Amino acid sequence: MRWSLSLGRIMGIRLMVHWTFFLLIAWVVLVEYSRGNTISGILLTTVYILSIFACVVLHEMGHALMARKFYVPTKKITLLPIGGVASLQRIPEQPKQELLVAVAGPLVNVIIAAIIFPFLDPLTSYIPEEEASGAFAAITMDNFWFALFSINIILVLFNLIPAFPMDGGRMLRSILAMKMNRLKATHIASSIGQFLAVLFFFAGLFFNPFLLLIGVFVFFGARGENIMVQQYEILRGHHVHEAMLTGLQTFEPDTPIKEITQQILSSCDDTFLVVENEETIGWVTRNEIIKELRENHGDKKISEIVSNHYKTLHPDEKLSKVMEMMQGSKQQVYPVMEENKLKGVLNFASLQRFIAVQSALNL
Ligand code: ZN
Repeated sequence: MRWSLSLGRIMGIRLMVHWTFFLLIAWVVLVEYSRGNTISGILLTTVYILSIFACVVLHEMGHALMARKFYVPTKKITLLPIGGVASLQRIPEQPKQELLVAVAGPLVNVIIAAIIFPFLDPLTSYIPEEEASGAFAAITMDNFWFALFSINIILVLFNLIPAFPMDGGRMLRSILAMKMNRLKATHIASSIGQFLAVLFFFAGLFFNPFLLLIGVFVFFGARGENIMVQQYEILRGHHVHEAMLTGLQTFEPDTPIKEITQQILSSCDDTFLVVENEETIGWVTRNEIIKELRENHGDKKISEIVSNHYKTLHPDEKLSKVMEMMQGSKQQVYPVMEENKLKGVLNFASLQRFIAVQSALNL
């Protein structure tokens, strides 16, 4: 994630903080100041917020360390104002392992709450009702531990909602995947999540606006995640050669641009490979060709406008990995090479077509 600051490594996992996190701290300080809190009160509230995020980091560490048990490394943990994200390199193979990885996060918060619990003083451990109904109750030395206890319980409950991107969604999917194939399990888990989001939304309208917020968050959060999780599932076990385009339009580097106008009109591709003796030189886009036609009447040769910073794929590379890479890259078309020979190309459109066909066959 861009705009993140690295805080170093914990047990080999990089800890990143998104810049908006500091915005949250600044906002909390400002709110506390404007309602006349003392310096020590503001400090205590800041310590409280930082403690919450320490609990979130421990939660994510729970996922990461359990995943490590199954030989799945975690690249980093990123802290956002809305929570943390542990970037696991992949989903564990067995549904049982995925279940354990998902459970490990909330379990950490249960343990933290259990550790705090014996130290709570039943007489002073409460937040006055009129303050609790506000956005933030004032944190004092008396209610600090109770508030931290409560937030851990809330983290557990929130994460157990059986919808993506919450841990509960992953738990549900892995339990379903013990009985059926993962794609079907993902599909059913997603539908349940969407249904719950709508339920939360309507419950929120009538009872508590907080539920409404959760409903909206789950609905939109789940949608993006559903699509990603499903596409990833569809691509699992498939390789580049199954989805690549063959019989594609290529150009020789010495060809003048004005001589290829007919070809770019008759091809439905947006990007073209420049190839010499079966060796890829680079690629040009339709837009670049049109721009050259307008500015220089197409007098230049293709080799003069070719982009030669490109990555190639091997026919046996995993499509799930390739999709991840394509999403974070500007390159739109990838030559598929084997022993220096061009076998085909893969672009986003061909990948999407492959996903559509596979999901029609498997659902
Ligand atoms: Zn989690």
